[in-house]
Order: sequence, then structure tokens, then C-alpha cells
Amino acid sequence: MVKVLINGYGSIGKRVADAIEMQKDMEVIGVTKTRPNFEAKMAIEKGYKLYAAIPERKSLFEESGIEIEGSIFDVIEEADIVVDCTPGGVGKDNLEVYKKYNVKAILQGGEKAHYVEDNFNSLWSYDRCYGKDYIRTVSCNTTGLCRILYAINSVTEILKARVVLIRRGADPNDIKKGPINAIVPNPPTVPSHHGPDVGSVIPEFNGKIVTSAIIVPTTLMHMHSLMVETSGTTREAIIEGIEKTPRIFTVSAEEGLNSTATIIEYARDLGRNRYDLNEIPVWEESINVVDNEVFLMQAVHQESDVVPENIDCIRSMLQLVDDNMKSIEMTNKAMGLLK
Ligand code: NAD
Repeated sequence: MVKVLINGYGSIGKRVADAIEMQKDMEVIGVTKTRPNFEAKMAIEKGYKLYAAIPERKSLFEESGIEIEGSIFDVIEEADIVVDCTPGGVGKDNLEVYKKYNVKAILQGGEKAHYVEDNFNSLWSYDRCYGKDYIRTVSCNTTGLCRILYAINSVTEILKARVVLIRRGADPNDIKKGPINAIVPNPPTVPSHHGPDVGSVIPEFNGKIVTSAIIVPTTLMHMHSLMVETSGTTREAIIEGIEKTPRIFTVSAEEGLNSTATIIEYARDLGRNRYDLNEIPVWEESINVVDNEVFLMQAVHQESDVVPENIDCIRSMLQLVDDNMKSIEMTNKAMGLLK
């Protein structure tokens, strides 16, 4: 069993911790928090050992009656790998700490691609990240794009892709962000950074993917509208490509899965913890091919699609399994994912 430390037990950190606990080849040796809030209490109730992420804050936990095991520096040397799930920008500073303690680490999508040795997606860069020390698991949007591009690429040659990303305003628990009554071009410049981010995982697509992004007042999911020029394909071939690709599947609007709201209801009905949908749903009705150009729409559950990727990334960096498809299968089975 390899030993994993989760630094930052928030939206992504708590999900990655739970997913690790479902695997047979890895365990969580501790989770860190900066504040003694309800998540800190629940981490202990779930059986995780809790550590203060910042040593000077240990007394805050003691004062609020939350029993911690110490600070991150009391456990970091026991870890085979740290999964850094701190807010975007913090991971960069933490990287220096991981290097000092000579421990491998995974950063998340909120960090810049060039801070690390390489950028991870289970389908595209498992082999490249194999045995490496410092890797970034790419963002929720980039992960969703990597999966659909893999599916399309498995049945035809991709010449160019244009993507409009319709992004959720905030996560459901985030009361500080908006918009409330606006649609915000974000970034207002085109292309957005999402295309180059896909290029950090799939260098051969650099320059071939042009993205623009807007933020809308919703919290449930992101949505992507893709237009992909190919050397030639059919609607049936694209559907087949999606069916063959792990962690992406088609949904039917006609059957009632006609919005991000009903898709989240579907995840609830599946009995998913925290109504997570780790897989990417693609609207079957939206898939069309006009003059060799593929059109389709997909949704991304921003809080959960990157979670199985983090698990595969641990296996790749610690050289636990040398075949990406084998790791994907292990992770999917343990987490009870579709297909
Ligand atoms: P979050 O704010 O929900 O959780 C971050 C956690 O880290 C919190 O518990 C916070 O208390 C803790 N923290 C803050 N400063 C810390 C420090 N110095 N050391 C240790 N812990 C600290 O954030 P999140 O949404 O889980 O995002 C984490 C990372 O994952 C970011 O890089 C983000 O861009 C990326 N990401 C987020 C989403 C999403 O939709 N939430 C999706 C994909 C990737």
C-alpha cells in the first residue's frame, strides 16, 4: 500500500481522499486543513488523521476542540506522495516544500503548467508522467476536453478544434463568487487559455485548438460546445469512439437528460456520493457531422471529473501499474464508474 498525504481538504481534496480509500493499492495517511471548520470535524469523523497545514495554526484547532495529530511537517516524511489540493496559486509555493522534503507531489489544475515536469491526463500522458516527481493533474475543463478529443481522435484525424466553454459561476458551496445576473466573457480575450492547456497534455494539438469562454450564473456543471474539423468521419463513428473511450458516455435529451440540472439529478439517482458525476456526458442529439466537421455538446461536473485522474496519476508517478488502461480500469471499478 502506498502512502498518500492530502494537502488541502476542500472540494477536490476530500473527493480524492475518498477515492484513494476505495483503491486496494493506496491509502490516505493524513489530510491537512488550514482552519478548524466543519470539514475538519468531518475528516476526523470519517477516520482521516488531521494535520494543520500551517504549523502556527495548530492552536486554532486545539482551541475549537478539534484533535489534530500535529502539523504537516510531522507527517510529510512518511508520505510516498502528496496530492496538493490547495486553492489555485498556493500549490506553486508548496512545491518548494515538497522538493525540500524530497517527496513526490501532484498539483491541481489551478496551477500553471510550466511549474511541473509534465501535465497529466489518464488517456494521453500516463506514460510520459511515469516515475516522474512533480506533475499537475489538469483542470476540470481540460480533462473534459482531453476525453472527448481522445474519443474523436480514436476514429479520425483531428485537423482543428474550436470550443466554446460555458463555465459555471462558482462551486455550489462558494458564496463569494458570481455572477448573479450577468453573462461574463472570461477571459474577455479570444483565444482563452484553455486551448494551450490542452496542448500541455497533448503537444501535437498545440495551435490546433482555439477556445473562448464565458461564465454564467449556475453552480452545477460547465458545458462545452465543440466544432472539430476532421479528415473525414461520420456521426456513427463518433458515437462509437465515445462508447469505446473510458469516462465519457452519451446521454439522451429525449429521455429527459436535457440539461445540466437533470444530469445532476441522474447522478443523484445513481446514488453517487455528493452527486458526483466523474464521467463526461455528451448529448447524443448534439452529435452531428457536416462537411467532415464534428459538432457536439458535453457537460463537465467540475468538482469530480479530475478525481479518478488523480488516482491514475499516483499509480503512474509511483510506477504501480505500467499500463494506463489497466490503471483506468482498476480506478473505475473501485469507484463504481459507468462502463
Ligand atoms: P477549495 O477552496 O475547495 O479547497 C482548498 C482547500 O485547501 C481548503 O480546505 C483550504 O482551507 C485549504 N488551504 C488553503 N490554503 C492552504 C495552504 N496554504 N495549505 C494547505 N491547505 C490550504 O479548492 P478546490 O476547489 O478544492 O480547488 C483545489 C485545486 O483544484 C485548485 O487548484 C483548483 O483550481 C483545482 N480544481 C478545482 C475544481 C473545482 O471545480 N472546484 C476543479 C478542478 C480543479
